[in-house]
Order: sequence, then structure tokens, then C-alpha cells
Amino acid sequence: MARILLRLSEHLVSEPIVSEVILENKVLVAILAAHINSKGGEIVLEVSDEELDKTVSAFRQKGVTVTVPKLIEVDINRCFSCGSCVALCPVEAISVAEDLSIQFSKEKCVGSVCNICVDACPARAINSVRYSNAENMHSHKRPREK
Ligand code: SF4
Ligand code: SF4
Repeated sequence: MARILLRLSEHLVSEPIVSEVILENKVLVAILAAHINSKGGEIVLEVSDEELDKTVSAFRQKGVTVTVPKLIEVDINRCFSCGSCVALCPVEAISVAEDLSIQFSKEKCVGSVCNICVDACPARAINSVRYSNAENMHSHKRPREK
């Protein structure tokens, strides 16, 4: 499975873009997270590797910016196991091992639309990093995208 981050501009947020892409292209996607208001929004979707290309193309044809969500990385040298990130993570993507080290699950993390742990860590031990399927997205990039 692959995760993609949709960025919707102000004029697209009121459109049923996700349903249209699903129905028109017969693809299966799961919405993992969504932050949307009247000025625009971000949605993280999970899609199968087989349907990734078709899904990305379909969203881009509708004017949606599609990238890969950033996940997090914990610098164990800075972490002092306070547990704040574990308690705050809404999807239980962070846990504490028996040796008190922090364990992170990239399968559960919804990435840069959340970032709660990044902002909460008192030791600044958590950073956003590119997700591992970023390579898959390069072939879809348009020149104007970062
Ligand atoms: S970014 Fe959000 S979902 Fe991911 S580990 Fe941090 S708190 Fe959990
Ligand atoms: S909030 Fe920071 S210091 Fe505390 S357990 Fe998490 S990574 Fe470690």
C-alpha cells in the first residue's frame, strides 16, 4: 500500500473530488486523515501499489496537488523518554519499549497533516521526514511542483 497527500485549493474544497476519482476510475482508497476548511485542505489517502499511478493521475487531472506525506523520525540521542508523544498520538503510532526506547510505526502514522508529536516533543527529538514510497511519485511530478 502507498500513501499520498492531496492538497486542495480554496476553490476545490467544496467539490466531491475523492468520490469522483473513486467512481470514475473504480479505484479503492482509504481516507486516513483530513484537515479541511474554507481556505483549502489536506487529505491523506492510502491506495494499493497497483492503483497508485492511476489514482495520482486522476487527482492531478482534477487540479489537486499530489505528493507523499512526510512521516516522522525520532532522534534517540535527544529523546529522554518522557512519553508525551506516546500519549498525544491520535493513532497510537508511537509506543514505549521495555527498555524505554521510543518505537514508531510508519504504517499507522498519518504524517504531516498531523505532526502533533513533532510540536509536542520538549527535546525537539522528532522531525518530519520523507516517506519511503517517495520514489514512486517522482515519475508523476510536474515541473511546477516541489
Ligand atoms: S505525526 Fe501524528 S500520527 Fe504520526 S506519530 Fe506523530 S502524533 Fe502520531
Ligand atoms: S516527546 Fe520527545 S522526549 Fe518525550 S518520549 Fe517522545 S521523542 Fe522522547
